[in-house]
Amino acid sequence: MLHPMWCGAMEYSIPCSNVPIGGSACPRFNADCAEAGFSPGWILIGADGANSAVRNAMGVQYLSWSYEQMGVVATLELAEESENTTAWQRWLPTGPIAILPLDARRSSLVWSTWQDNAKQLLKLPEDQFVDALNDALWKQYPRNSGVEAVTSWTSSWLRRAGLPDGAALQLPPSIRGVVPASRAAFPLGFGHSTRYVAPGVALVGDAAHRVHPLAGQGVNLGFGDVKDLTNFLSEAMYSGLDITHPDWLQKYESTRQRHNVPTQLMIEMLHRLYTVDLMPVVLARSVGLQITNALQPLKKMILSHATT
Ligand SMILES: Cc1cc2nc3c(=O)[nH]c(=O)nc-3n(C[C@H](O)[C@H](O)[C@H](O)COP(=O)(O)OP(=O)(O)OC[C@H]3O[C@@H](n4cnc5c(N)ncnc54)[C@H](O)[C@@H]3O)c2cc1C
Repeated sequence: MLHPMWCGAMEYSIPCSNVPIGGSACPRFNADCAEAGFSPGWILIGADGANSAVRNAMGVQYLSWSYEQMGVVATLELAEESENTTAWQRWLPTGPIAILPLDARRSSLVWSTWQDNAKQLLKLPEDQFVDALNDALWKQYPRNSGVEAVTSWTSSWLRRAGLPDGAALQLPPSIRGVVPASRAAFPLGFGHSTRYVAPGVALVGDAAHRVHPLAGQGVNLGFGDVKDLTNFLSEAMYSGLDITHPDWLQKYESTRQRHNVPTQLMIEMLHRLYTVDLMPVVLARSVGLQITNALQPLKKMILSHATT
């Protein structure tokens, strides 16, 4: 996670309710700024999450919607010790459930589901929650015979072409327990700030963009923002230039939006593709996934975009 609010210099962490922003100069340097610990020539970095007060104060347009779902998170104890290096995701009729490895005995849960169901899951006693979780991971749902036939034909075609057919089935881990007090639920939504910068201000992380956790990209996008912003600002400082000059911030905004907006659209497309139950869509996504898995260059290209 990013630090809540770095105001200007790394040693200060100031609640952003104290920070005056507005008008043409943003933040305006005035007595309130000085009291809040600001100096002229500093940059306010809004790293205050999806409900960013800094973004609101910038007065920029923010495109957002709620998925009307919550993500139930928990730290899970696995039934058996293992190498545990595989991240699992299964798409249930209620949404995706993901188990992300932490160490040989523990994994992290992100279970996206309808708000009422999420609240019920939080209230369940631990043993019932674990039963519901194992059920969600292991329960078999009826499969469409048409889709089965086409995917098995695609598998055999891929095998004949010497490509991975994705048929090697690895089983998800079984869950033994939940680490005490680790269960919580957070609302899920989409958000895109049309501007990441204003004079003297830059947004990073969820303050600028918010995505569905289905691709595990939220933190990566924020880390990418911090890396690029740091690079641009240090470039300016090493060249002896004014870091508050709009050119640097503008460069930051265009670089990050060129990366973040397509990633957000891709995640949104996947979300919509996987929430539809129509046979042709199920067929297209199943075969699409098999082919993406088989084509190493395509897979590498997706991985490289996700990690930059
Ligand atoms: C259920 C769920 C599961 C997720 N799973 C994944 C995953 O598996 N992988 C992944 O990459 N991403 C995941 N994400 C997304 C990820 O959590 C976010 O992208 C990430 O936390 C954003 O970091 P951030 O620092 O920008 O914002 P936040 O983590 O929201 O941090 C903002 C901080 O600012 C502080 N703050 C807010 N207002 C003020 C104020 N006025 N003054 C001072 N401080 C303030 C807040 O207290 C908070 O500490 C998930 C999100 C959810 C909801």
